[in-house]
Amino acid sequence: MIQIYAVGGYNEVGKNCTAINVDGEVLIIDLGIHLENYIKLTQDEDLVKIDADKLMDVGAVPNISVLDKINKNVKAVIISHAHLDHVGAVPYIADKFNAPVICAPYTAEVIQSILNDEGIKLKNDIKTVNINSRYKISDKIEIEFIHITHSIPQSALVAVHTKYGVIIYANDFKLDLHPTLGKKPNFKRMEEISRENVLALIVESTYASDQRKTPSEQVAKEMLRDVLLGTDNKDNLIIVTTFSSHMARLKSIIEFGKKLNRKILFLGRSLSKYVKAAENIGIVNFSNDVEMIKYSGQIERRLKKIDKDRKKYLLVTTGHQGEPKSVLYKIAKGVFKFDLHAEDNVVFSCRTIPTPTNIANREVLENELKLFGVRIFKDIHQSGHAAREDLRDFINLIKPRNIIPAHGTKEMKDSLAELAVEMGYKIDQNVFLIRNGQKIDL
Ligand SMILES: [Zn+2]
Repeated sequence: MIQIYAVGGYNEVGKNCTAINVDGEVLIIDLGIHLENYIKLTQDEDLVKIDADKLMDVGAVPNISVLDKINKNVKAVIISHAHLDHVGAVPYIADKFNAPVICAPYTAEVIQSILNDEGIKLKNDIKTVNINSRYKISDKIEIEFIHITHSIPQSALVAVHTKYGVIIYANDFKLDLHPTLGKKPNFKRMEEISRENVLALIVESTYASDQRKTPSEQVAKEMLRDVLLGTDNKDNLIIVTTFSSHMARLKSIIEFGKKLNRKILFLGRSLSKYVKAAENIGIVNFSNDVEMIKYSGQIERRLKKIDKDRKKYLLVTTGHQGEPKSVLYKIAKGVFKFDLHAEDNVVFSCRTIPTPTNIANREVLENELKLFGVRIFKDIHQSGHAAREDLRDFINLIKPRNIIPAHGTKEMKDSLAELAVEMGYKIDQNVFLIRNGQKIDL
């Protein structure tokens, strides 16, 4: 008997969590936070210790009460990759399960650094499994991490091997044939597995309505090249902001910074956190080329020196979503007493994640930047998520018997279901639209 529980991320983008019950043995896959709800809670209340129940009440973490009856049977908590909407709830609720957390080495590094930052000691063991390898959970269940491209190192498709067939968990991924860091997706293994009886595919639907193939990270790199090497910026400071965990993007920024003969500085805590995690396991080695500064006091002092020779610098900062605590926001607001000059370059190598908070924050940030007369370059970015035509190729490749749309709102999941129907699947027969708190028996 196989049961799949939608715990979180099936009504929204965020707080991803799925449980799979195989003859009474349960796997949890992903324990993410809902970033917007999490920030709202932690900003509004002066919390000494963040309480798991409180987090659940406000929808900041998956509501695991749906698993109350099978809670004791959880054998492992598997984490697919290190984005916070997949891993961020581990410090707060993983200890509700008497089971190890199993993830790739990079994800383990990120978990450890969150635990250190928050001063939390996790009861669960953290076990690492390399990408493209298997791990035996019990006599009934074996898991496998298959390399896939996304926007953070060591993202995995999780294959759950059971006597009933394989269940594939594909949150999050894109099919990038020209990655700029790391390898192409492991198509060979996907093809092999498609012949092993894929019972079900749990798959992201975030961009299922977007009728295209998501462009490669190489395209984002060319967009950056165009902006950084193709504009008249020789007399001005350049600031680039992007996702702190996007090592591929940061690598491209460094490459162009070096071409411009500029000193490259990474400013902000989260940048240094994710880069250090990647350096610890040898994925990147940015420290040779980059000066990293974490804390506000040091940043303020360093900015004073930069001011004397500003055209020699390329700064990479936190703040791509306009976060009020970020370095870019503080620069723009004058907190560091560092003035931007007319025609300084600010490059947003990201897309605004369209939540009301982000939209409002970005508007404030951009208005402040415009007061200085800086040049703003927006949307120098390509997504890490599969669009409709990637999803079609992926489903054709994996050949699942059943499809469970995940990672999205009702509209997003409906789009994926519609694609599946186009491909010959049937709603409620082999495509199952389930909401948080529901389960299906296969
Ligand atoms: Zn992700």
